[in-house]
Amino acid sequence: LGSCVKVCPTNALSLTIPQDSKGELSSEIGSKFNLKEPLPESVSDYAQGNEKKTIRSQVTPIAGGEVWSGVWVIIEYNNGRVAPVSWELLGEGRKLADSLGSELCGVITGYQVDNVIPEAFAYGAEKLYVIDHEVLKDYRTEPYAEAITSLVRKYQPEIILMGATSMGRDVFPAVATKMQTGLTADCTVLGIDPETKLLQQTRPAFGGNIMATILCRTRRPQMATVRPRVMEMPERAVGREGELIREEFTLTESDIRTKVLEFIPADAKSTFLDKAEIIVSVGLGIAAKRNLVLAEELAEVLGATLAGTRGAVEAGWLSHDQQVGQSGVTVRPKVYIAIGISGAIQHLVGMETSDFIIAINNDPEAPILKVANYGIVGDLFQIVPAMTAEFKKRLQ
Ligand code: FAD
Repeated sequence: LGSCVKVCPTNALSLTIPQDSKGELSSEIGSKFNLKEPLPESVSDYAQGNEKKTIRSQVTPIAGGEVWSGVWVIIEYNNGRVAPVSWELLGEGRKLADSLGSELCGVITGYQVDNVIPEAFAYGAEKLYVIDHEVLKDYRTEPYAEAITSLVRKYQPEIILMGATSMGRDVFPAVATKMQTGLTADCTVLGIDPETKLLQQTRPAFGGNIMATILCRTRRPQMATVRPRVMEMPERAVGREGELIREEFTLTESDIRTKVLEFIPADAKSTFLDKAEIIVSVGLGIAAKRNLVLAEELAEVLGATLAGTRGAVEAGWLSHDQQVGQSGVTVRPKVYIAIGISGAIQHLVGMETSDFIIAINNDPEAPILKVANYGIVGDLFQIVPAMTAEFKKRLQ
């Protein structure tokens, strides 16, 4: 009992032991864990106390009295490219910083990152913290979490944001754990409470049936990941300047347990789904994998990217990378064509901010038709080939 608390590498675990009125371990707990061996020191210390309390090793002190200020955006740079959500977050971060009357800063961690610096200023960072080091060449959780945490400890930002990309979803929990603070993943709306000045972090919850607004009242920094393509891209002002702060990084290759042996890029088509300008998306209405060809032909004529619902992915017609929605990718194309898709809330949250939505469904009550700019009620097996033929005529 309690050994997991001791060995957890990020001090993420705590243990609460119920006691009886005399301050002794309850017999229920004793028998449940078959306590024959002495308790670990920290746990037995605790067990002698008079009131129930939580054991937590090396807790970072609560932010009381300390000054935490500024809005930070972690700029994701990997394999020579910046994740565009980083720029979207600089736009959103600007609004938050203005509401707080604080500064907007960017953070770049990586190797040979100099070409990213002018871009970060152009998208609105006032100040940039940079750690440029060879051990950060390929993304790995340990050095990236350590690099970001070292900056957070030193400069104490009030809010830090990162894209809910694979990297953001991996490194941010590690940073939050090291800082012993809260993290809201996959936010779709951010704001500042006008009275408390706390960050309001809103995300779909309970299967997308409610939007939950989450606050981090007592710990700092307040941390959130935000889905790509949800926030608007800010204006890029080439030549804008700001303050550059370069920091040393002391970790060496021998300190890091993981080694990158090879980098295999993902299939280009699905990787860029969140950046596609035209998407042809299919749902269970297409009935069978062999009918996917109808959507593929339409996509080819339009130069569109193929995507679909979780239903279509679970049926094995598409890969998970092609899934649009709450547990897939959020998209914001110029045109989204939904074929045989009902429009479940979990799907809508991933595509309803598309500029123009065309939905084809034989059920006039299907929810997708309520968000569509053009709703075509009818049989997709007749409508889609007719659309493909018409577009072919007009576009060739
Ligand atoms: P259906 O709901 O079965 O809709 C098929 C539609 O096709 C119907 O509206 C029907 O009228 C129409 N149709 C049938 N035949 C024809 C025809 N011949 N011509 C025209 N129209 C026709 N879903 C997602 O998409 N993305 C997610 O990320 C996602 N995440 C989820 C997370 C959680 C926690 C949960 C619980 C669910 C999630 N879902 C997600 C699933 C979601 O709730 C729906 O089940 C799913 O989106 C339905 O997929 P569909 O529209 O393809 O199928």
